[in-house]
Amino acid sequence: MDHLPVFLNLRDRLVLVVGGGAVATRKVELLLKAHARVRVVAPRLHSGLAPYRDAGRIEHLGCEFEPRHLEGAVFAIAATDRREVNHAVAAAGAARAIFVNVVDDGAASSAIMPAIVDRSPLLVAIGSSGQSPTLARRVRAQLEAMLPERIGELARLAGAARERVQRALPDIERRRRFWERLFAGSIASQVLAGSMREAEVLLDAELAAAAAGASRACGEVYLIGAGPGDPDLLTLRALQLLQQSDVVLYDRLVSAAVLERVRRDAQRIFVGKEPGHHRVTQQRIHALLLEHAGRGQRVARLKGGDPFIFGRGGEELDVLQRAGIPVIVVPGITAALGAAAAAALPLTQRGVAPSVTFVTATGDGAEGLDWRSLASPLQTVVFYMGVAQLPLIVQRLQAHGAPAERAAAIVERATLPRQRVIGGCLGDIAAQAQRAQLVAPALLIVGEVAGRAAQSAKLMEELIATGAAGP
Ligand code: SAH
Repeated sequence: MDHLPVFLNLRDRLVLVVGGGAVATRKVELLLKAHARVRVVAPRLHSGLAPYRDAGRIEHLGCEFEPRHLEGAVFAIAATDRREVNHAVAAAGAARAIFVNVVDDGAASSAIMPAIVDRSPLLVAIGSSGQSPTLARRVRAQLEAMLPERIGELARLAGAARERVQRALPDIERRRRFWERLFAGSIASQVLAGSMREAEVLLDAELAAAAAGASRACGEVYLIGAGPGDPDLLTLRALQLLQQSDVVLYDRLVSAAVLERVRRDAQRIFVGKEPGHHRVTQQRIHALLLEHAGRGQRVARLKGGDPFIFGRGGEELDVLQRAGIPVIVVPGITAALGAAAAAALPLTQRGVAPSVTFVTATGDGAEGLDWRSLASPLQTVVFYMGVAQLPLIVQRLQAHGAPAERAAAIVERATLPRQRVIGGCLGDIAAQAQRAQLVAPALLIVGEVAGRAAQSAKLMEELIATGAAGP
């Protein structure tokens, strides 16, 4: 180990920054975030720094660097674009036993600035001992994605409860187990999902139970949208919760690639409903959720697309809330949005489609729809549907006044391997789908924007034909 990572408390301590350019500006901003007093030495100030000077937040000496500027400083950063000046700062610092960071010059520095993931009060600092700042920044990007936004609030909650926990649980071993449970359980997931109030209530209950020698088996349910299929379209929160679930209940529409992202040793339970014959009833799903969460497990209820779009997520939420089980709802990319992006069809467009409607036309649902309004022009309508319903939908739209030339597109297996887009119009789309032997899942997009599907497909064919684009 060539360097010792430490966290400096710079509050109200003086730090010297030599240089007044863009790089110096970034360093000054970082120092101000750490509540340091900042002295900047530079003949000229970058436009980014001037406001800090004008507001009196930094001291500015508009001259060349001299060693005496280090007077009173505990740390210095040399951030000029002149090597000899930077080295003079380093030498002057060394003579006074003050650590100096020379930007982009590890060899001349006695202190290296790490790449930082800031989830204050939680901080992660990454260094490569000056060997490769770029690599350190890449590692930081990975950690940024891994660490939930509110993990700092979790540290704050724990900090605020520390004394109370110490009083309630004087035994150090029991206290350690309490903290372990807290960070792995529903209190932590509530904080990370932004429900601070719920987390505090749970913490009080759990602490009281732990002090009484009982451990509450408090499970929870994550109602997670799995998106249309491509696992890269999962949200970061979905990934984090899937990684900490004990049990996963998943639907038919949850792709194999998404299931791959579930914690390896989690129990997986398929609760899919095949169209036509309902293999696992909604009642049975409710019972399974209650049973597992009641046992204290962390249950992920993974649903295709978004849980609250044609997904019966509302019913599951009701059942769980009535039973007093904490629930976290994680939105997912609904099939219409996945399909639109994958097929490059904007769902709304100025002048052509000022509105978009999502409808489900499966089962009895079709009867209750306002077909006249769905058939009217100047809008986009997306039909979530079983493949078998397609001819009926097309026929109803036409019966209610939609012209045969109205553009229509079908996106089959959107964002999944073997995705297909079929472009056409109401007059021919059903026949085209039949010829293409359409399979589920698929959805129908009706409206002028769907016309792009045929255009894009033609363009792509031309490009492939001319060798300009490979398959
Ligand atoms: N909650 C889901 C929708 C469930 S309804 C969501 O928000 O996406 C099921 C219907 O969604 C299917 O019949 C199909 O029309 C549509 N669907 C789901 N995934 C799809 C996909 N990858 N490609 C095309 N359509 C899809």
